[in-house]
Amino acid sequence: MSDHYDLIIIGTGAGGGTLLHRLAPSGKRILVLERGDYLPREKENWDAVSVFQKDRYHTKDVWIDKDGEDLHPQQAYYVGGQTKVYGAALFRLRERDFTEVRHEGGISPAWPLTYAEMEPYYQRAEELFEVHGVAGEDPTEGPHSGPYPFPPVSNEPRIQEVFDGLTRIGHKPFHLPMGVRLLENDRVASPCIKCNTCDGYPCMIHAKSDADILCVRPSLAHPGVTLLRNALVRRLIATGTQVSSVEAIVEGEHRSFSADVVVLAAGAINSAVILLRSGLANGSDQVGRNFMKHNNVAMSAISKVPNPTIFQKTFGCNDYYWGDEDVAYPLGHLQLLGKANADQFSAESPVPGVPPAIFQAMGTHSVDWWLTGEDLPTAENRVFLDADDRVHLDYTDGNRVSFARLQHRWVEELRKVDATFGFTSYAAYLRKEIPLAGVAHQVGTCVFGEDPASSVLDLDCKAHELDNLYVVDGSFFPSIGAINPSLTIVANALRVGDHLAARLG
Ligand SMILES: Cc1cc2nc3c(=O)[nH]c(=O)nc-3n(C[C@H](O)[C@H](O)[C@H](O)COP(=O)(O)OP(=O)(O)OC[C@H]3O[C@@H](n4cnc5c(N)ncnc54)[C@H](O)[C@@H]3O)c2cc1C
Ligand code: SF4
Repeated sequence: MSDHYDLIIIGTGAGGGTLLHRLAPSGKRILVLERGDYLPREKENWDAVSVFQKDRYHTKDVWIDKDGEDLHPQQAYYVGGQTKVYGAALFRLRERDFTEVRHEGGISPAWPLTYAEMEPYYQRAEELFEVHGVAGEDPTEGPHSGPYPFPPVSNEPRIQEVFDGLTRIGHKPFHLPMGVRLLENDRVASPCIKCNTCDGYPCMIHAKSDADILCVRPSLAHPGVTLLRNALVRRLIATGTQVSSVEAIVEGEHRSFSADVVVLAAGAINSAVILLRSGLANGSDQVGRNFMKHNNVAMSAISKVPNPTIFQKTFGCNDYYWGDEDVAYPLGHLQLLGKANADQFSAESPVPGVPPAIFQAMGTHSVDWWLTGEDLPTAENRVFLDADDRVHLDYTDGNRVSFARLQHRWVEELRKVDATFGFTSYAAYLRKEIPLAGVAHQVGTCVFGEDPASSVLDLDCKAHELDNLYVVDGSFFPSIGAINPSLTIVANALRVGDHLAARLG
């Protein structure tokens, strides 16, 4: 019985890592199966060519899109999951995101929980992930039961100029809630050096608030916890309404494990793949469906004024989150990106043969934005396996009119700010739509709800059809809102963690 545990957790990202951190002190025997290894610390961590051009940290797995074309997913399989490379903007969903909201493109469904019910877990999530911010500064944010644990990350001078310019024309920009382990008033003791290679890069010095550093590694100090790396879970086997074994390939060897409780936290796409391959929890035919990932655009506003900012991801704006003066439908969210440099512009240039000096000039003058619009769940947007066990990701863009309007409005507003500096005629606003391969914000493939006919999981994120199987990653979202999903995944893992702590006794 040496391979029987109290609990097995599959995956160590935002969901699995957090759950492990919550339950590790319980003294229970916990086995963690993670397909990846530790992300290596090496100079390439902070090299744009290695990270963005050569895809050094992305899987070589190939999926298939709805047109039958190869899809090279930007998936990082490491201890800590996608949080190893994330931008660490750690937002709460808005209060109204938990209710049904009518969009120009359809309905964003209600959650079976309210913001008030999630709030205590958001507070704990912000403490666990050491989030910086100012409660109440963003007018769309719901009430906080406590302050952010760390003060906001300061804007550098050029960014403060843009912040002030937006404020002058009537906007309400706010400091981004950021998960970097930065002590700005004690730079000697600060783990984070506030560098220019954060958003999308691994942190070479382990100063990002990721699930590996903050959750998994501290949990390994508890004697009941066993982490198996390079352990790819293939399928779950059920006997009646119990998952009786977990089949994995560990360091190339087929192995089987069992536990009183099994938790899938392999990310929204891979958790659905494992369930579909296992033929489990799918009486509703909803496993893999309702896949969402946001409408995303990266936009670089390039003006004559140089932008020597090093750490740029410091403010956002939600003034169009619920619409604008002409449109009553939600448009989306705006935040700064990590500073784009010449290598990134070169890597993403659609035009061959551009002289390097042009990319250099772009890199030293751009202010870079991330624009997000909500995409809506549909049965057709889904993950599935074909007869040859190949992963398919069918996705058709939706809710696009509002997203186009958001982009148009933001360029108009940036032009107004630029005009106050007298250089509108020099400004260019370059936009890049993020393709399907950019599955960073994947959620929704195993929706939670009260009705087993229309949802996969119950309110505790336990599979309706199985007594001992839970899913604790981004899969459970009934709708995605328009802000980054990770803090909600962390908060939910803490919520389910409380339930499991009581269940395991
Ligand atoms: C470049 C980038 C920037 C981002 N920026 C932000 C941001 O600023 N803010 C934000 O909120 N979110 C951001 N995200 C998204 C964020 O990383 C995800 O929302 C979050 O990590 C999802 O958590 P998860 O637990 O659902 O899945 P993951 O974090 O992906 O964890 C899943 C884990 O399961 C493992 N796994 C997968 N399949 C198997 C298997 N078969 N067997 C065993 N293990 C398996 C994986 O290796 C991984 O460790 C970003 C993502 C990327 C890629
Ligand atoms: S800004 Fe801080 S957390 Fe981000 S990569 Fe640099 S040192 Fe690491």
